[in-house]
Amino acid sequence: MHISRRKFIQKVGAGAALSSLPSVTAFSKSSFQEKKLGIALVGMGYYAEHKLATGLQETSNCYLAGIVTGKPEKAEKFKVKYNLPDKNIYNYETFDRIADNKDIDIVYVVLPNSMHAEYVIRAAKAGKHVITEKPMAVSVKECQAMIDACKKAGVKLSVGYRLHFEPFTQEAMRIGQQKIFGKVKLVESSDGFKIGDPTQWRLKKSLAGGGAMMDVGVYAIQAARYSTGEEPISVTAQEFKTDPVKFKEVDETILWQMEFPSGAVSNSATTYASSTERLFISAENGWVELRPAYGYGPLAGRTNKGELNLPQTNHQALQMEDFAKCILENKESSVSGEEGLKDMKVVEAIYRAIANGKKEKIV
Ligand code: NAD
Repeated sequence: MHISRRKFIQKVGAGAALSSLPSVTAFSKSSFQEKKLGIALVGMGYYAEHKLATGLQETSNCYLAGIVTGKPEKAEKFKVKYNLPDKNIYNYETFDRIADNKDIDIVYVVLPNSMHAEYVIRAAKAGKHVITEKPMAVSVKECQAMIDACKKAGVKLSVGYRLHFEPFTQEAMRIGQQKIFGKVKLVESSDGFKIGDPTQWRLKKSLAGGGAMMDVGVYAIQAARYSTGEEPISVTAQEFKTDPVKFKEVDETILWQMEFPSGAVSNSATTYASSTERLFISAENGWVELRPAYGYGPLAGRTNKGELNLPQTNHQALQMEDFAKCILENKESSVSGEEGLKDMKVVEAIYRAIANGKKEKIV
């Protein structure tokens, strides 16, 4: 953390338990505006290097303070590039010592999916606030354990749902949830890409937890939920596989349909076979379409009234900025662990619906 914040923390003697403060209003606003929370990225793969570390160069209330990596050559590279002190560089064995590091306020887990739960729980035990990448984990049980661990430790938990802070997505949410074109009746959402390297962790069940569904299907689930502002009550689903060798362990393509309490329905797809990236919200008196809808941008969208002219933003910077703000203001993240848990309940119901060949309730 930067000096002003360290002084503040020493003053209140709270260490990482800033979130337990009842309110920030007891302190002058200007003292908080100066504060920058330190983020440590865990797992310096593609997303951490090219989107999060770079995104953190554009944030005003948080910064890249440390890294956790198993590879010494990567440690050296990021140390030099981002001027990180040796004491803020960890590997997976030394990770738990992060508890003693006052520079680190937030641990951001950017590891393969099945490792999220373990590292989130270890970070919580170290007294750090946590962000985990999507999917939050690989089961409802793990999501619940992560939420419980963070609650017990008095730290905040957030899922890397960057789109919630992105203008096109926010406009789609506003139109749907505020019934700008009347009640939403039908949502079509699909997210997929053609996956390459057959040896990568995304195709291994033990690391990925599932295939396209776990990886990008969660965006299409999210989209149906945030377009309606409702929680789906039931789902039917179908799985298709054209390459049983490559997709021996995980799903290649899944289609699914959900029913919502208002009577709205959604039709969705996710695939590792080809590129698709679309959200279409059809309401009583109009429609909105985002296409591309989920990538890093530029995103684009239109309604029945014309093109949406909205700014292109750095999704990751806005997302991390929002979480730091939540910590400084002692508020829950709008993309807290509960949000990830809700999506995982849908994912599990989809897999059940495929296995059972019938409509499944989402509970
Ligand atoms: P990646 O393969 O590029 O990086 C994974 C990192 O984990 C690497 O640094 C690797 O060394 C490390 N690692 C540690 N133990 C490992 C093990 N046993 N097997 C494999 N790797 C191991 O993957 P990525 O694309 O950066 O994805 C990481 C996480 O970020 C995933 O959960 C993914 O879903 C998520 N992600 C999110 C977005 C987004 O837009 N929010 C985009 C990409 C990835």
